[in-house]
Amino acid sequence: MEALAEGLTTSSSESLSSTLCLYGQGVVRGYAIGRAVVMSAAALEVAHYRLAPGDIEAEQHRFSQAVETAVRDLHQMVETLPDDAPREMGVLLSVHAMLLQDPMLVQSVCQLISDRQYNAEWALTTQGQILAEQFATMDDDYLRERSADVRQVIERVLRVLSGSRHWLPNLDAVDSDGSLIVVARDISPADMMRLRGGKFAAFLTDLGGATSHTAIVARSMNVPAVVGMGWVRMLVRDGDQLIVDGLNGMVLVNPPASVLAEYRERQTAFLRERDELKALRFAPAVTLDGVRIRMEANIELPEEAADALAAGAEGIGLFRSEFLFMGRRELPGEDEQYEAYTSAVRTMAGRPVTIRTLDIGADKTLDGEATVAANPALGLRAIRYCLANPELFNTQLRALLRAARHGPVRILLPMISSLQEIQAARRALDRAAEELRVARVPHEADVQVGAMVEIPAMAIAIEPFAEEMDFLSIGTNDLIQYVLAIDRGDKDVAALYDPMHPAVLRLIAHTINVGERAGKPVSVCGEMAGDVGITRMLLGLGLTGFSMHPQQLLDVKKEIRRAHTNALRVKVAAALNRAERIDLADLAP
Ligand code: PEP
Ligand code: MG
Repeated sequence: MEALAEGLTTSSSESLSSTLCLYGQGVVRGYAIGRAVVMSAAALEVAHYRLAPGDIEAEQHRFSQAVETAVRDLHQMVETLPDDAPREMGVLLSVHAMLLQDPMLVQSVCQLISDRQYNAEWALTTQGQILAEQFATMDDDYLRERSADVRQVIERVLRVLSGSRHWLPNLDAVDSDGSLIVVARDISPADMMRLRGGKFAAFLTDLGGATSHTAIVARSMNVPAVVGMGWVRMLVRDGDQLIVDGLNGMVLVNPPASVLAEYRERQTAFLRERDELKALRFAPAVTLDGVRIRMEANIELPEEAADALAAGAEGIGLFRSEFLFMGRRELPGEDEQYEAYTSAVRTMAGRPVTIRTLDIGADKTLDGEATVAANPALGLRAIRYCLANPELFNTQLRALLRAARHGPVRILLPMISSLQEIQAARRALDRAAEELRVARVPHEADVQVGAMVEIPAMAIAIEPFAEEMDFLSIGTNDLIQYVLAIDRGDKDVAALYDPMHPAVLRLIAHTINVGERAGKPVSVCGEMAGDVGITRMLLGLGLTGFSMHPQQLLDVKKEIRRAHTNALRVKVAAALNRAERIDLADLAP
């Protein structure tokens, strides 16, 4: 609150004292002002079936047990509320527990189960609807608002009944006019892709970290987002007026008019600054001491290549091809993939397009394929998945070689840990090329092949990989996750996710140095590359290739053009030799 009040006029900060102010991790800069759409798990498809007479008692018991579990969970949450939880939280949770124990709800549901022979989920949603309607028509504002609480407690019981913790938004009913703000417990990358089409002004989630794939997709949509908020879905109601400050990770709920006006001005100033930066689009990224830096873009879908080009990208440094595969029942075939890759290649008009082979697994799952691995981030992910599914890999490689005929495609292999994986991938590539040759399908077999450096083992023993590959791309998101043993999507350990850890920086520096000696280009395509706060540090590590979301390119380019690489390299090397933390303030101009 203090940080926020700092820049506000006195009258605004005074009226702000009564406004609910929530914090999380801001992942996309910018401001949004709009109305909340609280994504409700009540939109879950619930099963509707009639029970056999002999099953009624067991079903009532199943329902009562679920209610008991939900009430227990709520009480436990109240007891274990962290000190920094908003004051209202405990009260809200207790109200929810009371609602759940209300005979109006419990007995009526049991009645519906016996009278109409509805299954528990059906009976619960039916009764929930009746109650919500009763509350919604009440004259008293306070009581009317309880309809949202009813919906939330019903969701809680439905989730216990289903045994599933997944949430599926039903967005078909949402009519967006461009100023809606999505409020959700969590949004999977696949659901995020579904949300792309809508004109949402911001995303707020209880869970998630700054480099979770949800955050990455939000960034690619250039929509302000705050993740890891903890309580936002409980504290915000449908239709609430919200101000989102994506830089500071802050959300104001139902602010007074003076604060709204202040933020409208900030939003306008921010957009003006963005426009001014556009002048740098075609200026070269050269440091003050003449080091030329290569600036490329990360994309998730081929359409985004146009944004990359508009932002002055010199190529695509990372096309996360898995996003073509997610959120759909049938996987894209060879022709569909060929069209998608070709479309990006054509848009980039002769500039290199680095397409990463399928990186599925961990938090990015294919539709209908539940993650069953005990620890998916360490399981059958990315290249491991592709080598275990040779036909799926072959289809993608064929499509890539066909697309390469239209421009410089570079193939990037994710999650490599051994030379054997590279050899196996090269054999698969040779097979795809041979098949195309025999079938006389036009293609280009001579493509550059590079590897992601994102598993510590590879970064530590990088020399043979630098010899073997045409180029290297450092995936700092995963590298940090695996070096520090911090789940990149887990908000509870988000504070420990530390890009500035000397161990992480040493691995990046080592990779860059070895790549330089081997004469192989090295770039960073993880989120670090787009963080303007650490651009100088990356230059100090000797980095000359950056790949980031298109909208970050100009900010980073501006910073590069103000930096002296040599001076930075001396400072950074001295600190890393001693494995000391680097103070970013020491690198400032
Ligand atoms: C990375 O790990 O840094 C990376 C760029 O890949 P992804 O974020 O898709 O895992
Ligand atoms: Mg990665």
